[in-house]
Amino acid sequence: MNSIPYGRQHITDDDIAAVNAVLRSSHLTQGPKIGELEEAFARYVGATYAVAVANGTAALHLCCMALNVGPGTRVITTPITFSASANCVRYCGGEVHFADIDPDNVLLDPKAVRSLLESHPKGYFSGIIPVDFAGYPVDMAAFRELADEFGLWIIEDSCHAPGATFVDKNGVTHRCGDGSLAELAIFSFHPVKHIAAGEGGMITTNDKELYHHLLRLRTHGITNKPEELTQPYPDEPERGGWYMELQELGYNYRLTDIQAALALSQMNRVDAMLDRRRELAARYDAAFSEAATSGLPIQIIVPPAGIGHAYHLYVIQTPDRKGLYDSLRTKNIFAQVHYIPVHLMPYYRQFGWKPGDFPHAEHYYAQGLSLPLFPTLTDDEQNYVINQVLGFLHVKSFINPN
Ligand SMILES: *Cc1c(COP(=O)(O)O)cnc(C)c1O
Repeated sequence: MNSIPYGRQHITDDDIAAVNAVLRSSHLTQGPKIGELEEAFARYVGATYAVAVANGTAALHLCCMALNVGPGTRVITTPITFSASANCVRYCGGEVHFADIDPDNVLLDPKAVRSLLESHPKGYFSGIIPVDFAGYPVDMAAFRELADEFGLWIIEDSCHAPGATFVDKNGVTHRCGDGSLAELAIFSFHPVKHIAAGEGGMITTNDKELYHHLLRLRTHGITNKPEELTQPYPDEPERGGWYMELQELGYNYRLTDIQAALALSQMNRVDAMLDRRRELAARYDAAFSEAATSGLPIQIIVPPAGIGHAYHLYVIQTPDRKGLYDSLRTKNIFAQVHYIPVHLMPYYRQFGWKPGDFPHAEHYYAQGLSLPLFPTLTDDEQNYVINQVLGFLHVKSFINPN
């Protein structure tokens, strides 16, 4: 068996042709492909506006800037995420606070966030960055309610969840990042995520003002749009076509047209790739729920009806996680651990966070393992993974490939 990673991009001849076409065109960086990708992505998630940026981390950074995070701004996020969800607050000089996860779904627990909010005066915190961990949409209705009650904004980190859906209290189905409940949502086009651009990111929003601000911040804080110019200039005819203004300190966080063309080409099969992820997850579910029922030490997460999980990751929990991880490696299966809790990273410990602060997150970290899951994983490869996992858990398994 060839080695099987936990995630892998899928590049087709059409993808390559799309990139080649850009290389032969007049625009390499921010050209026509950016607008096309933004429009396609906004339509896909159901948001009004989308802003393409260099990567998901840049997306988070710009969102924090647009929401005026600065020294003294306190923001709450989850310990079980990629550290970028917290780092973006630090880039702006803000304070990162954490609340524990719900052990049933590994997501930031709105109840834990509420008790944190209630233990401080109103106005103490400014925002929440919940994360759709593994592709499981967070309870955005609950976070919206908290945000309205406590005067907070929300940046939804949906890097794992393009295409994920949830049903609101009125029975309406939403895609993560549709802008209906969070001010801003962000996505990543890192190759291991659903849509690959090499590097790339996207911000979605329904807020026109934030949208225009993000467009400026992405390009240094510069604008040449007549309606945005602020500098008085009495002798208007002398102000030529070259005129632009640096209005605040932004960054060069542009995406290239080369990358946008790749992402756009991948979007042509985004539904098929998501279907395949869900199909593979259902096959894991079937194998492991049977194992769990028969008493094997394995726990899986099966979302309730109404949750459209996007399955960036397929996670299991087992007490001898290191044993299983090491055993799988000897069989050429490269499972991965997502994530070492952010509050336990040396960088964050300097702010006083320590082991024991978030017991559910730390328990999940002790037992969690992400198994291989990507659209081109074959049934045979997956059966091999399942057999190795069950074999380690000491059962004789038989897999029905159908
Ligand atoms: C991948 C990821 C990011 C960062 O995205 P990049 O494109 O790699 O910068 C942020 N948050 C989460 C949850 C991620 O998985």
